[in-house]
Amino acid sequence: MDNKFSTDISIKELIDKHNISKEIINKNKLILTKYINNHIDCDIKKPCKQNKKGFKSLLIYENKRFYIKFDSCVHQKKYLKQNQWKKNYIFYDFDDKYLNIKQNNFKNNDFFKRNDQFNKFLKKIDKGLYIWGDSNMGKTTISLLLSNKLAKKNFKVFFCNWTNFISLLKEGSPQIYWNKIKKSQVVILDDVGSEDISKWTRDEIMLPLLNLCVMQNKLIIINSNYSLKKLKFNYLNAKNNTDNENAKINSSKIINRIEKLCELIKIQ
Ligand SMILES: [Zn+2]
Repeated sequence: MDNKFSTDISIKELIDKHNISKEIINKNKLILTKYINNHIDCDIKKPCKQNKKGFKSLLIYENKRFYIKFDSCVHQKKYLKQNQWKKNYIFYDFDDKYLNIKQNNFKNNDFFKRNDQFNKFLKKIDKGLYIWGDSNMGKTTISLLLSNKLAKKNFKVFFCNWTNFISLLKEGSPQIYWNKIKKSQVVILDDVGSEDISKWTRDEIMLPLLNLCVMQNKLIIINSNYSLKKLKFNYLNAKNNTDNENAKINSSKIINRIEKLCELIKIQ
């Protein structure tokens, strides 16, 4: 046997495993030489050495023939493993850079140290959160941090800015977005109450969404500039109200659902 073939570990392994004859080796000389000349093993501690970054050649033996296949190198495998959690996002509408947001980027970081409510929440995850307080208190940042943490814990997450979500539903194909919500285990709504509240957004979007969360036992995280009392007032006074009794009933239902689904957290 040609010595250069038997000294290659992958080739030797295949020869031993399949009891490959010298004759077959000779017939496959070209492909084996090609494999030896091009195959590189990466060292994870050093930069990727592959010609096509992230992919290394792999030798396969089938039906008395050798083949070269491409597979992830150690660098690509590490990258895929580190980023796998991002696939748990069923939908998000924030910039990709926020996928890498860190707790210590958070300007109101002492809030986390002072208040163990979020850590408790992340340990138990049995009830959602209604996070409210004045604007510029970092409510969106908190929601983004929690959202990424939940995705890393393997929850299927739907994250959207509430005003943006309503625009998406208006643009057509609302069923696409409702289906995404149905597929998610966690629904995160950013800045609820800042939308142009109308009878439609209240009765056809917010209430059905909360009903869905109750029925399908979904975790919901809402952040808002408004207390529940003020939010209820805003829903009561929605645009295009035609029926005061209906406005009262649905506004109360929305607030009751939120109270049922969420722990209230005031950021100050
Ligand atoms: Zn590599």
